[in-house]
Amino acid sequence: MTTNTAKSADDFAGQYIRTLVDRWDELIDWDRREEGEQGFFVEILAGAGASRVLDAAAGTGYHSVMLAQHGFDVTAVDGSAEMIERSRLNAARHGQSFPTVQTDWRQLRDNIQGRYDAIVCLGSSFPHLFEESDRRAVLAEFHAALNPGGVLIVDHRNFDSIRRHRYESSGNYYYCGTGASVSVAHIDDQLCRFQYEFTDGSTHHLEVYPILSAELSALLRESGFESVEEFGDFRRDFDENSADFVIHVARKT
Ligand code: SAH
Repeated sequence: MTTNTAKSADDFAGQYIRTLVDRWDELIDWDRREEGEQGFFVEILAGAGASRVLDAAAGTGYHSVMLAQHGFDVTAVDGSAEMIERSRLNAARHGQSFPTVQTDWRQLRDNIQGRYDAIVCLGSSFPHLFEESDRRAVLAEFHAALNPGGVLIVDHRNFDSIRRHRYESSGNYYYCGTGASVSVAHIDDQLCRFQYEFTDGSTHHLEVYPILSAELSALLRESGFESVEEFGDFRRDFDENSADFVIHVARKT
């Protein structure tokens, strides 16, 4: 595959094909992921008095299930039909059920009802938006879909560090499974291609836009969010070189 082909936000659906969706939970390890998070999301959402929570990038449903277990009124959204189906199966397996909506974020408000107290977009999903116009459009959708006082939590891998060719995952956060290894097959300032290798010898690639932390914080502010805070691997004080993930917590006044 060439690296200079124009990438678009439309590509995500083709990237989460069934063979990768089937393997996604091997990548995660739900128990270790929960351990790594140490209640971070529940604490922030409860602190904000949130009740209705939209999980915008539900994937296989890890956060939707976990938040439902903590009593939040969750709606799970994803653009991929395969992921939505998997999140339903995982919810049933954990004795939970919640509404699911298959929609592209860019048409979010056409497909959901009412507003939410919180929106989470996690697991480095937002970097699937390659164009700044799409990133702005989606943040505008998220902003409009929040109640006043609502909170948006959006994260991404630490591309500041990856762009300095310093990718090294601790394996303690987000993707904690031992049945897969992740490496960076290509990186420049417009494209990051991750390579996932599974124990059965299969290989998959995911291509995303390597957004910088300051870039997203600025976009959040320009999209009307206030008190934008950054956390590294769920800590306020973090080492910008070694954190695996950066988490932005933004509020709508
Ligand atoms: N939050 C989950 C899944 C991360 S994978 C986790 O942390 O495990 C990224 C998810 O974002 C995929 O399920 C993909 O379908 C979804 N996605 C990417 N771009 C999207 C878009 N434009 N609209 C809706 N969903 C999108």
